[in-house]
Amino acid sequence: MQINRNYLDLQDSYLFSTIARKVSEYKSKYPEKDIIRLGIGDVTLPLCEAVVKAMEAAVLEMGTQHGFRGYGPEQGYDFLRSAVRDYYKNRGVTLQDNEVFISDGAKSDLGNILDIFGLDNTVLIPDPVYPVYVDTNIMAGRQIIYMNANEENSFLPMPDETVKADIIYLCSPNNPTGAVYNKTQLKAWVDYALSRNAVILFDAAYEAFIQDEELPKSIYEIDGAKQCAIEFCSLSKTAGFTGTRCGYTIVPVELIYENTSLNKLWLRRQTTKFNGVPYIIQRGAEAVFSEDGQKQIKENIQYYLENAKIISETLSNMGIWFVGGKNSPYIWLKCPNNMTSWEFFDYLLENANVVGTPGEGFGKNGEGFFRLTSFGKREDIITAMNRISNIKF
Ligand code: PLP
Repeated sequence: MQINRNYLDLQDSYLFSTIARKVSEYKSKYPEKDIIRLGIGDVTLPLCEAVVKAMEAAVLEMGTQHGFRGYGPEQGYDFLRSAVRDYYKNRGVTLQDNEVFISDGAKSDLGNILDIFGLDNTVLIPDPVYPVYVDTNIMAGRQIIYMNANEENSFLPMPDETVKADIIYLCSPNNPTGAVYNKTQLKAWVDYALSRNAVILFDAAYEAFIQDEELPKSIYEIDGAKQCAIEFCSLSKTAGFTGTRCGYTIVPVELIYENTSLNKLWLRRQTTKFNGVPYIIQRGAEAVFSEDGQKQIKENIQYYLENAKIISETLSNMGIWFVGGKNSPYIWLKCPNNMTSWEFFDYLLENANVVGTPGEGFGKNGEGFFRLTSFGKREDIITAMNRISNIKF
């Protein structure tokens, strides 16, 4: 028996364990200090009423002979697939029902999609990045090329004609940077992918945070994208489903490579290795797309965006360079006085008792940058910003 040796090439991530250790050391030294965490990437507001009601009704239904359901369709129940399709339609994107695949979240599908691609493909990944794209490709043994996201390109790397890539990862609004591609920029990526017969894996997990009407929420708002892009989306940040687990992946029927439909390959993969998302959860997810659900989740998103605005205004007043904070729950700032990410982490912990995430943990271009998130409580955000405004850099 041989193990998959590619796993030995994975780098251990010390980011969140080092943060936890540093915070606990500081707390044991200064137990009286009130530490505010602005590093969390998890939502904090509860599920909205429409979702809870729908799931309650589904639980009761499952307890009746008539309403009981066993195995469901692997690709999701029709009621949820058409709710997702209608959601896209309201944004001017027409999808067929069989192009929508319901999942237990974007992370699984982002990893699993690699099953349908050959191992010899070259993968293009931005740096800094959500680590899942990197690690899932290392596990499979694929060659990765990194593209630099940095201050010069406002953390929105554009295609380099000299680079040959087959699988391209784009995430907009971005984690960790909060940067968002506009339509012209995404069009350049679509043209690049089409010209190279490449596929774009577009992570739209934060699309619901986009408020600016001009910015694309879906890559399919760009001409030609249905011939070269798969889109991953999630209800995790949109509707507080991080613990409830539901997302969806769009695989257009027009995606044809080597005379083969990617939609058919993905359907085959899912029906073989996945048994679907629980009925109760799918009923909750359906409620997200109802009129009440949309109204209620938007209130929560506005709450986070208002937090992001408070953080952004504080940084602007202090003359600190940052991206994100608008159309995104993340704020990505340049550490003042040329501090490294970890120096700034320590400085903020000691002088403001505020915890964020060192950018270096997301890739080499993250060094010297720092991520703050807006998923906390309003009063904590205000207190943290008052403290930061009062420290000297
Ligand atoms: N994509 C990005 C960019 C994320 O930041 C996250 C979660 O933090 C995910 C995907 C995973 O989402 P899910 O909870 O749906 O698996």
